Amino acid sequence: MPNPKKVIFLLSFFIILCSMTGCKETNQSENYIMTVSGKINVNKLGRTLPHEHIIVDFIGAEIVKQPQYSDEIAIEIILPHLMELKKNGIGTIFECTPNYIGRNPQLLKKLSDLSGINIVTNTGYYAAVDKKYLPQHAYDETAEQISKRWENEAIEGIENTKIKPGFIKLGVGSGPLDSIETKLLEAAILLSKKTNLTIAIHTGDGEAAESEFNLLKNSGIKLEKMIWVHAQNGTDIQREKLAKEGVWISLDGVSETRIKEYINMVIYLKDKNLLNKILISHDDGWSVTKNDGDIELNLFENGNSKPYHTIINQFLDSLILRGFDQNEINLLLKDNPIKSISL
Ligand SMILES: [Zn+2]
Repeated sequence: MPNPKKVIFLLSFFIILCSMTGCKETNQSENYIMTVSGKINVNKLGRTLPHEHIIVDFIGAEIVKQPQYSDEIAIEIILPHLMELKKNGIGTIFECTPNYIGRNPQLLKKLSDLSGINIVTNTGYYAAVDKKYLPQHAYDETAEQISKRWENEAIEGIENTKIKPGFIKLGVGSGPLDSIETKLLEAAILLSKKTNLTIAIHTGDGEAAESEFNLLKNSGIKLEKMIWVHAQNGTDIQREKLAKEGVWISLDGVSETRIKEYINMVIYLKDKNLLNKILISHDDGWSVTKNDGDIELNLFENGNSKPYHTIINQFLDSLILRGFDQNEINLLLKDNPIKSISL
C-alpha cells in the first residue's frame, strides 16, 4: 500500500513540472493540414507526394458539365494504384488539379476513404495555356471579389460538399506576369493573408517565378507561403536564389527517363544547404479523352508507365547511391511537403 502523503507529494510535483514545461512531448505539434476528410495533425501524414493529380479534364472552362466520367469508373481505374501506393509507404498526396480543369473533391474524398491515403485539394484558378481554363468571371471581377469566392470555399467548403481546400493553386505561363495572372496572384495573396493557406503556382519558367516572387515580396507576405511549381523549368541559379529567400522549390516531374537530371538538381541545392526547401513529386495522373464519342481516362504520358511510383521504386535508391541518408530522405519525402502547407 503506497504512502498517501508520498503519492500526493509526487502528484503535486508532476503537476508543477507540467505547468512549467507545458507537459508536451518534443515531437507533439498543434499544426495540421486540411485534407478532403478535414484537419489532420502533421504527425499523422507519413511520406507525402506534394504534386500529383487524380484526373484532369483539358477540355476548357465552362464548355461542358464536368465531370464527364462517372466516379464509379474512375474509382475502378485509379483505386488499385492508390492502394498499392499506401502499401508502399506513402501516406498523403496533394492533388493539384484546380477548379475548371477537372477538380473533383467528391471523387477525391471517396478515393481517400477507400484507399486510406490522405488527399489534399485546392482552391484557385489556372491561367496558363492561353487562359483556356479561366471562367468568364475571372476577367469581369476584381481581385477582392475573386478572393472572396475562394475564401468561401476555404470557410464553407467547395460547393455543397463541405470539403475544404488545403492550399491555393494557380497557373501562369512564361515570362513576366500579365495583368490577369497578376490579378489572380493578388487574389491569392489576399486569401493567404486571411487564412494562412500556401500559394502553389504552376509556373512556365524562371522569369515568371521571379515575377511572382517580386509581387509576393512587395505584398509583405512570408515567402514560405509560395511554392514554385515546376521549378525544374528554371535554372540552378534561379532555384537557389528563390530557395534562399524561403520559397519552396517543387521539382515535380520525376520520371523513369529523367532520374539523373532530377538528382543533379537536388544535389545542387543540397550543396548550398537548401535541401530543406525542396519538394519532389511526379505530376502523374489521368486525363479525360474522347474516343469515338466515348469518354476514356488515360494515364498522362510523362515518362512514367506506372503512376506515382518512380520516386519510391527508383529515385530513392539513386539518392542513397549518391550518399543521401535516411534523415535527408525523410526531409524530402515527409518534413518538407508537410511543412510547405501546414496551418
Ligand atoms: Zn501538375
